[in-house]
Amino acid sequence: MRASRTTMAIVVPEGLLFAVAVALLRIPSTRALIDPLLDVLPVLTIIVGALLSVRFRRLQIFMALVALALVDRGLIYLSGDAVPGLLGTVLPFVLFVLALGDGGFESWSGRLSVLIVTVALAITLLLPQPIHTLPAIFDFPLVPEAFHQRVGLPALGIVAYGGAGFTMVILVAARHDRVVRGLLWCLVASFFGFAVALDRTSYFTVAGVILIVALVEDAYALAYRDALTKLPSRRALDDMLKRLHPPFTVALVDVDHFKRFNDRYGHDVGDQVLQMVARHLGAVGGAGQAYRYGGEEFAIVFRGKKLDACEDHLEQVRAGIDDARFLLRAPDRPKKRPSKPAPRIAKPKQISVTVSVGVAQSSDALPTSLEVVDAADKALYRAKRAGRNRITTERRKKRRS
Ligand code: GH3
Ligand code: MG
Ligand code: MG
Repeated sequence: MRASRTTMAIVVPEGLLFAVAVALLRIPSTRALIDPLLDVLPVLTIIVGALLSVRFRRLQIFMALVALALVDRGLIYLSGDAVPGLLGTVLPFVLFVLALGDGGFESWSGRLSVLIVTVALAITLLLPQPIHTLPAIFDFPLVPEAFHQRVGLPALGIVAYGGAGFTMVILVAARHDRVVRGLLWCLVASFFGFAVALDRTSYFTVAGVILIVALVEDAYALAYRDALTKLPSRRALDDMLKRLHPPFTVALVDVDHFKRFNDRYGHDVGDQVLQMVARHLGAVGGAGQAYRYGGEEFAIVFRGKKLDACEDHLEQVRAGIDDARFLLRAPDRPKKRPSKPAPRIAKPKQISVTVSVGVAQSSDALPTSLEVVDAADKALYRAKRAGRNRITTERRKKRRS
């Protein structure tokens, strides 16, 4: 289950887009349809991609587009037999560095990555021509000669592609970073560009389109995902509730005495508590979907399910949070040994977190999702009054007169 989710997170949507693009380019009948477009598409992709990446402040994507365009033109205008091998090594290196530079121009790693990429591209494009031989470091007996011939890259280029791809897969699996996922599939498309040398610009264009899709995905996620907990946001919930048809069940979840965590341990610890709770809610069974409702409140929606079918899953989540031992991270150790022992806690301190849950289902009395949410809210209020750390249900069958 987890493995398939991770695979989905790596492949959807850019990987699927790439597969479709390869099919379109290779099937003769569809190829004939898109061939006229291939005159304008490369330039259009660069212009649209550059404008969007500047607008959304995604410097890594902007630089990747610039690198794609420069390498594509470099392959035409630079002279010498070794040019493809050189550029085919520089491009994966550039994409790799951009994937490591987190956070765009606002962070030092983002700025450093742009600096390295700019210098690497400038040196490559300004090398004295013609370039007929590459330094010995580019070729070493690592991969079979036949493979070199097939993909048209020196050993160092193949290692650069392999290393960059491997690192990016790990990064995407660990952080679900949409920009890096775009860079990963851009890398794959550009590799095909070198391997299918006759159709290079087409594959580079696919790589550019993939970057644009990654930009749009990232912008969508900004609006519909909560940045702290990574759960879908209130806006996503509201959209979903409008499209919901009975039967369905809604649970509202509220962290008990949350204000105390903030007051006692600070806002950062409060945020960590919210992330821990969100992890549990996100893993709820019964195909429930968790949302961050706002502040320390969450919602879980079970589509097509009656309340009875959801109660066990909710109870598991409630008990799971109750049982989880939340460890307060000890403050950083000082570098020098202090003359007096530190007065603060040295051992990590445990705090326990509980949640209260109010649940309601759609029924004749509660046909609309807003009414069900309202009923779940009332049930939640009763759970709080009854002593917290419990689930209270609202089972109204008939409309009250
Ligand atoms: P109860 O058991 O009745 O729910 O008590 P409570 O303290 O959880 O409820 P209350 O509504 O009084 O407090 C909610 C607090 O949540 C107040 C607000 O400062 C805090 N809060 C809201 N959003 C965030 C957030 O994103 N991060 C942190 N750290 N605190 C938040
Ligand atoms: Mg609350
Ligand atoms: Mg609360």
